[in-house]
Amino acid sequence: MNNFEEYCTKFVQSVGNKEGAVSPALTNSASFAYGTPEIAEVIFEGSVKKPLYSRMGNPTTAKLESIMAEMDGGIASIATSSGMGATTLVCMSLLASGDEIISIGGLFGGTYALFSETLTRFGIKTHFFDVDDFLEIKETINDNTKIIFLESVGNPNMRLPDIKRIAKIANDAGIILAVDNTITPLSISPLELGADISIYSTTKIISGNSSALGGCAVFRALKEGDDKLKSPRYSFLSNFIKGAGKMALFANAKKRALRDFGMSANANASYQTMLGLETLPLRLSRITKSVEVIALALDKSGLNINHPCIKSHPHNERYLNDFKNGCGTLFTIDMGSKEKAFEFLNKTKLATLTANIGDNRTLALHMASTIYRDFDDEIRKFLGISDGLIRVSIGLENPNDIINDFIQAAR
Ligand SMILES: *Cc1c(COP(=O)(O)O)cnc(C)c1O
Repeated sequence: MNNFEEYCTKFVQSVGNKEGAVSPALTNSASFAYGTPEIAEVIFEGSVKKPLYSRMGNPTTAKLESIMAEMDGGIASIATSSGMGATTLVCMSLLASGDEIISIGGLFGGTYALFSETLTRFGIKTHFFDVDDFLEIKETINDNTKIIFLESVGNPNMRLPDIKRIAKIANDAGIILAVDNTITPLSISPLELGADISIYSTTKIISGNSSALGGCAVFRALKEGDDKLKSPRYSFLSNFIKGAGKMALFANAKKRALRDFGMSANANASYQTMLGLETLPLRLSRITKSVEVIALALDKSGLNINHPCIKSHPHNERYLNDFKNGCGTLFTIDMGSKEKAFEFLNKTKLATLTANIGDNRTLALHMASTIYRDFDDEIRKFLGISDGLIRVSIGLENPNDIINDFIQAAR
């Protein structure tokens, strides 16, 4: 049984309740009353698990967090106010001034700006690599390297990483691997492939309907005799390993980032996200099939399409072997120039022009004039942003309708 089939059953069963209200309970309270000072004391101590204050956790959000943790085979997860909130949570919980990140593949514009501009102000340096720069990645690792960060699919360059091989490099060097799996939930299971943390923008395909901004970080369990995080590199984790054991990565992120920076999810967004999540496998399995059909047909029609299902793509073999459940909802069209790209976007009748991806509707956007407008030519070249590049995120429409619409728009 593939993940889509397995989770068609699991999600609807875990989101809905078997008694009372079927839809998840929405608890819209910022604070929670403890009743007695004795109970307040044990809640703050952590020995009694009851809601403390919504910045630290909310019952509706907790339900989403437990389903997300189960989806990825993690021990626990933390839902956040946005996908960038989840990436920031992971970074702020693990990094200090003088530390370094190795960033591989992608990269989503917001993450690139966080790493290259914002974190540098705090004395944190990031080295950027293409997915196949294995040797350079190994050579760059040093005592200050604290995170290897990977995007499961290059957005929008569509290059695919060999996640197992990169996980081996990270694990051999004793470094935490965090994978932004926003584009491929269920299709790829980062923790199973050797990552320590998976990161999501739930705003995208997990919600699927543009109704809620949100993010989530899922943490692996520390195992018995698992020494990776006990090295001097992560000495700041030792108290959490002592106190929380296999939950250490989660406990550290909750205290050092969620409590202190406050990128907490709100209950309304968590509720909306669960309504989307329960149909995720159904939507994603349909869309990954449509993406292939549409990309191949448009390629055949003479358009310049970038998707690894196309034989000439450098990662076609990796796509067939390692991405058996597809690689998400995206492909790109290079129209050759900004003018041609704008003409296409003005002529398409079905695509919605927006910066989002993973929606129920097909979305499209010219890259260089929007998300990547702040970056210079050299960075755009590294990120694969050419002047005529349009990113497309396929939705639930009939694929033939999209093919016909795009062919008329490109004429
Ligand atoms: C959208 C996106 C993010 C950021 O998520 P937000 O919810 O918009 O903050 C991070 N990574 C990837 C791959 C994304 O597509």
